[in-house]
Amino acid sequence: MINFVGAGPGAADLITLRGQKFISEADVIVYTGSLVNKELLNYAKHDCKTYNSAYMTLEQVMEVMIEAEKNGLKTVRLHTGDPSLYGAIREQMDILDKENIEYKVCPGVSSFCAAAAALNLEYTLPSVTQSVIITRTEGRTPVPPKEDISALAVHGTTMVLFLSTGLIDSLVKKLYAAGVSPDMPAAIVYKASWPDEKKFVCTVSTLKETAEKENIKNTALIIIGKVIDTEYDRSCLYDPKFETLFRKEEK
Ligand code: SAH
Repeated sequence: MINFVGAGPGAADLITLRGQKFISEADVIVYTGSLVNKELLNYAKHDCKTYNSAYMTLEQVMEVMIEAEKNGLKTVRLHTGDPSLYGAIREQMDILDKENIEYKVCPGVSSFCAAAAALNLEYTLPSVTQSVIITRTEGRTPVPPKEDISALAVHGTTMVLFLSTGLIDSLVKKLYAAGVSPDMPAAIVYKASWPDEKKFVCTVSTLKETAEKENIKNTALIIIGKVIDTEYDRSCLYDPKFETLFRKEEK
């Protein structure tokens, strides 16, 4: 059995109890060394074999997992944050399907949740926006044209940009092309939940200089949206005049 496990955003105690249990029972762990906190490996058995996938190709990762499976061993494939976002898990699953090897996924706390926590932010504020767009600027991985930032930003939702701190020039140009104001609130969260976490609130017009001044190049998220700094309406859910399945209206 192979378990894909979400390692969480960084802090070693932000893995789920289930994820920690899988780590503690594993004979083999293949972890995304570029981003996963190595402290998590302290939960593993002392004779557990660990592999840093930052130095491996897909083929090499699969060879390790398939070999372990043949030997009846328990394998954890440890991915940063939640495996469903930019995790490259599907290609691994498809190969496991072909090999008739069973697997499961244990979710994790994504870095976009840790970034909101760092900023005490609610991504969805009543009367401001009820949607979050999770996306990235185009780098070596192409982004479908309809998902270009200039097309997505016209909606005025909160936007969380992964893998984009090296491409702020192009990001800002695309935001302006969508009609986003230079004063639109923005934030950069570097290594959310790690001991050396840094967070900066700025505007779209000062995004680039903020990243440059603070020397932020990777392991960071960019957040764009009014929710960072705006007035909003109180929620209906907790309004005394609002009835829910659980509570009657207060007269
Ligand atoms: N599956 C992961 C994302 C992997 S893609 C998740 O759910 O978080 C890698 C990108 O995620 C990084 O380039 C960076 O943009 C972001 N990232 C990962 N960990 C982060 C952290 N602790 N703080 C800020 N950004 C992070």
